[in-house]
Parts: sequence; structure tokens; C-alpha cells
Amino acid sequence: MPLPCPPQTAPEPPPYRPTPIRLYVIGTMETHNEQALLVDRWLVLSEWLAQQGFPVENTRPVFISSATTPPNWLAALRETERVDPWFRGVRAIIARGLGGFAAGGVDAPDGRARAILGDAAYYALTGQSHRCEVDYRLPAFACTWQAQLGALAHEIGHGQGFQHDAGGVMEHWWRWPDVPLVSEEAFAERRARQAAVSQSTDLISEVRRLLGQVRP
Ligand SMILES: [Zn+2]
Repeated sequence: MPLPCPPQTAPEPPPYRPTPIRLYVIGTMETHNEQALLVDRWLVLSEWLAQQGFPVENTRPVFISSATTPPNWLAALRETERVDPWFRGVRAIIARGLGGFAAGGVDAPDGRARAILGDAAYYALTGQSHRCEVDYRLPAFACTWQAQLGALAHEIGHGQGFQHDAGGVMEHWWRWPDVPLVSEEAFAERRARQAAVSQSTDLISEVRRLLGQVRP
């Protein structure tokens, strides 16, 4: 029995939607003032991200108070998964104990998306820029709270699947907030890529459905 003809019009692929974001802060807060500053800074970044279409789910960070600091970024990621197991978006994490570490990305094949920064960001965001500069030998321009909010936004951009050629903060994070997260072109390209992936998935499921029809 021949396969039936495929439908003339391909199903419309779902539009690309930026992934929701949550911020977690892991470690001991030395003062209430540090915690209050982190809340303020994250609110500012949340609004900036939302204006560009990147939704933040918690405008107040999840504070995970821990006497022991995570030994590496994977341990930090697992700590947020222990506290908040069902969240499927970009886990933005500031973890004390990770030093000058900063990285972001999407892990294949499970799609765990993350944006993780260490103590250098913690210090810059809590009014201790001198510790960011001295302890991690970073230039002064990289240790302002604005620059480190840019670094956080940059890693969140990687968690959204953007690369370094995306322009804006994905190119020059220290220029936050004077440049957008990504250029218009990069956003359009990402949208097209997502549509292509969705389309091929739809075509495979369509073929499976047709094969199912011809089997007894
Ligand atoms: Zn990067």
C-alpha cells in the first residue's frame, strides 16, 4: 500500500520565545545591605531584560543561604535544582566560592540553561568593587555594578542560545546598559533558527503519523 500524500501546507512552526529567567544567589550574605543591593540591582536588570522581550520570573532573587560554598559551577547548578526542581528556564546564579568564574550556555541534550557568576560579580554588585579589582585582578571598568550586571546579562544571553557574534551586550558586556542584549539581526537569526528546528521536528512527527496510518 503506497504512503498517502503529505499535506500540501506544512504546519505553522511555533514562534521563537525567549526562555524565562530566574536568579539564585548562593552563599552567606555578610550584611542585610548586601542582600538589599542584590535585590535592587536584579530589579533593574529584570526591567531591562523584560523591555527587550526576555521574561524574568522572579524579580526578587532566590537566596540560598549556605555555610559551605559550592566547589564548582555544576555543584552550584545542582544546588538550585535541589531548591527549585521544576523550573525549566535559564537559571542565573551568583555563587560565592566560584571566584572570578563566569559562564553561560545551554547543555545538550537535556536543554539545561544556565548563567553562572562567582565572587567577583558578587562583590561588584554589593558595593565592594575594590575586592573585585584586587582579589581577582580585574580592571576597574569591569568591576562597577553596571559592568557586572552586563556580565550577568551576557551569560543569560548564552543561556538563551546567543553567541558572541550577536552584537550588543553579547559582544561588549561592560557597555551595559548603553547597548541592547543582542542586535536586531542576531535576534532575527535566532528566531529563524528556532523556526527551522521546530519545522523539522514537525516534519518527522508528520512522517511518523503517516507511517502509523499505513501499518496494520
Ligand atoms: Zn561570552
